[in-house]
Amino acid sequence: MVRVRVIQDECMSIGRCLADAPNVFRFDDNELSEVIPGQDGALDEATAVRIARNCPNRAIVVEREDGSAIPLD
Ligand code: SF4
Repeated sequence: MVRVRVIQDECMSIGRCLADAPNVFRFDDNELSEVIPGQDGALDEATAVRIARNCPNRAIVVEREDGSAIPLD
């Protein structure tokens, strides 16, 4: 199982992650992506990594259960 989180300081509000996984990501009141509460573990690893790679500013982090980040490159 992996978890995703958004580094909001890096988010450019482009919305690709929302288009890719509207069940996991949403915009907050500042139009920055955030993970919908309780949905951070909803994606399988391959999907999470694909979506994170698709973020133009690499604002999405994919982590293993031990908290280590999965490399995106
Ligand atoms: S794809 Fe990246 S930059 Fe775009 S809204 Fe999602 S986190 Fe922000």
